[in-house]
Amino acid sequence: MASAFSHAVVAVALSKGFRIEKTGIRSFLLGIFCAIAPDLDVIGFRYGVQYGDVWGHRGITHSLFFSAGLSLILTLLFYFRSPATLMSRAFLYLFACGSSHGLLDALTNGGLGVAFFSPFNTARYFFGFRPIAVSPIGVHQFFTERGAQVLISEFKWIWLPSLVFVAAVSLFERLLCRKRKD
Ligand SMILES: [Zn+2]
Repeated sequence: MASAFSHAVVAVALSKGFRIEKTGIRSFLLGIFCAIAPDLDVIGFRYGVQYGDVWGHRGITHSLFFSAGLSLILTLLFYFRSPATLMSRAFLYLFACGSSHGLLDALTNGGLGVAFFSPFNTARYFFGFRPIAVSPIGVHQFFTERGAQVLISEFKWIWLPSLVFVAAVSLFERLLCRKRKD
């Protein structure tokens, strides 16, 4: 996995693309939750679930199916009274946050691949290009040399691209605004 901090950073950056930040802190928090929720599957290790199982780490909770289901439930729960346009935007945002998790994990250099299409196809996938150093599962392991390497790698391959994305969207919005005024 990539670290929870980095998954959260991507959720915040994506909020800019979906212009969801104008709907308040609730959307941010839900987006961050969707982005980090797939790694709750590590709880299964305590109960004997094997890494490669359907419910194992990077299994079904990392799939597009799970992301769509979680996004749908949260949208219905938290945007029930919102206009349809906001509801659909919120769903797409939450789905993007949830799906970004598996995409990032498939760019890491360790563990098993990601079961993107579970439960229909339980094969595990990685991308051909895997520059992100895999994150340790325990928090205490971040305070080691390897933890520092992971954070540097994530800064380079997740945080910086996220900043560039936010800057590019902001620039695009400004240009669009200026064009409308002309
Ligand atoms: Zn993960």
